[in-house]
Amino acid sequence: MIILLLCMGLIIGIVCMEFLSYIIHRFIMHGFLWNIHKTHHKHGKNFFELNDVFSLFFALVSMCLSIVGYTNGDYFLFGIGFGIIIYGFLYFFIHDILIHKRVKISVRTKNRYIQHIIHAHKIHHSMIDKFPSQSFGLLWVPYKYRKNRG
Ligand SMILES: [Zn+2]
Ligand SMILES: [Zn+2]
Repeated sequence: MIILLLCMGLIIGIVCMEFLSYIIHRFIMHGFLWNIHKTHHKHGKNFFELNDVFSLFFALVSMCLSIVGYTNGDYFLFGIGFGIIIYGFLYFFIHDILIHKRVKISVRTKNRYIQHIIHAHKIHHSMIDKFPSQSFGLLWVPYKYRKNRG
């Protein structure tokens, strides 16, 4: 039962984060918090961007949920918190390392799904302003943003 609750929490945490990050990116980051998010679209020479506060915020939320879940024996909540942590690592690996190469390590992949993600995010970055913009998600790539539509 514990494993089931944990797995359900994990899956819900990851799926909800993709949904939430789409909503937050589209309506908040490209909305009233554009001044923070624009540091990612108009990136300077510094390693850190003010936009990193969003990652910090979710790291904090995920740690709080995990700790509260664990200390109360609530494995579902622990799973959600841990799912957000996994999503954060996936996001960092795909978005910050594979796409933006913030960490200078050479990772090459011909994986079709990863190519779709990279292509879709490059479409997002082809527009450097708040509006117009498109392709806000990361892991879920709508058909119209897929590379070669495959
Ligand atoms: Zn953006
Ligand atoms: Zn980006």
